[in-house]
Amino acid sequence: MEPTSRRDFLRMTAIAAAGMPLARPLIPSIAHIATPTTSRQERKLGFALVGLGSLSTNQIAPALQKTKHCRLAGIVTGTPAKAEKWKAQYGIPDKSIYNYDTMSRMADNPDIDVVYIVTPNALHARDTIKAAKAGKHVLCEKPMEVSTARCQEMVDACKKANRQLAIGYRCRFEPHHVEMLRVAREKEMGEVRLIESGFGFSIGDPTQWRLNYALAGGGPLMDVGIYSIQSAEMIAGQYPIAVSAMTTKTDPVKFKDVEESMTYELKFANGISASCTTTYKVNGFNRTTAYAERGSFGLTPAFNYDGIKGWRSDGKPLDASEVDQFATEMDDFANCIINNRPTSVPGEMGLRDVRTMMALYEAAKTGRTVRLA
Ligand code: NAD
Repeated sequence: MEPTSRRDFLRMTAIAAAGMPLARPLIPSIAHIATPTTSRQERKLGFALVGLGSLSTNQIAPALQKTKHCRLAGIVTGTPAKAEKWKAQYGIPDKSIYNYDTMSRMADNPDIDVVYIVTPNALHARDTIKAAKAGKHVLCEKPMEVSTARCQEMVDACKKANRQLAIGYRCRFEPHHVEMLRVAREKEMGEVRLIESGFGFSIGDPTQWRLNYALAGGGPLMDVGIYSIQSAEMIAGQYPIAVSAMTTKTDPVKFKDVEESMTYELKFANGISASCTTTYKVNGFNRTTAYAERGSFGLTPAFNYDGIKGWRSDGKPLDASEVDQFATEMDDFANCIINNRPTSVPGEMGLRDVRTMMALYEAAKTGRTVRLA
């Protein structure tokens, strides 16, 4: 269901804000704007984090402390020393501390409502399916997985368990991105024609899983190129129908398994095309721009955890509030569960993006345009 006018959008917002359970589940539109909602019940859902690496430690756990409707209720880790540290730091009870083999026992733990998967990409299906079988809702980090078949298994497992599956697309909840979407949708500068987007960084440790194909499923495209795909999809309001791509490798030793850089094109049915680049080679590459009939607007930087800056070629501000993106994303998912509302970032969206990325790898390999519709 895609709002076709501002009035429709406001009506949808009002429905969501009222926290009304939906008699018929909405099919989440790709162009849906995540709206902060207030739950009727002041209930906090228990979140268990799976994988206590950098993102869980530095972003998600601190963000959980800032949420309105979530609390850190459990952990899953293969490292006993980390379990001890987290137990002491966050007061997690022994009964809510699991390892990857015991996490199915969560089925007997009513303190855990949502399992947040923060392991390397190729372990997301394994952990999601275990969580779903234990009867938990799942929030899974991006990219959803390393193949469409595994993504489908995740969707099926959550459906079978009658639980929601959301993908950690934090920018969908980031107010500058939402404002950019509004400018595009309300055609303030006319129809958007072209999108240009890039995200990359210079990767360090050559032994990390991000450079291991079996665990990462690909290089910078899977890791950060996905942000440009999401940004283009948000602005275009659709999924791409055809893609082309070219990869570059200057260090074949470090990048023996995965691409070092990729430039790629996404074509949309409404005539918009997006020209994107991603890399593990340089820092400071971080922007998204929309070119419309009467001007351009964009975000530079676009994809950081904070400090996102908007601009418009007509000199008007493209401003928005600064939020903790992870707290906002988790509160939105908690609200969806509490209010029986479908998430705007469902597994089906994650699957479609993995399909797009697999098509991009095929395009780069064959030198041909790959059609998706
Ligand atoms: P990380 O390497 O810091 O942490 C990964 C965790 O998984 C570690 O605790 C590690 O011990 C655990 N793990 C379990 N089995 C493992 C195995 N077989 N090999 C390696 N590690 C194993 O990675 P991270 O940066 O926290 O990323 C985790 C996930 O989060 C990835 O899917 C990544 O794409 C995603 N991520 C998302 C964002 C975002 O902004 N949304 C940012 C960073 C990472």
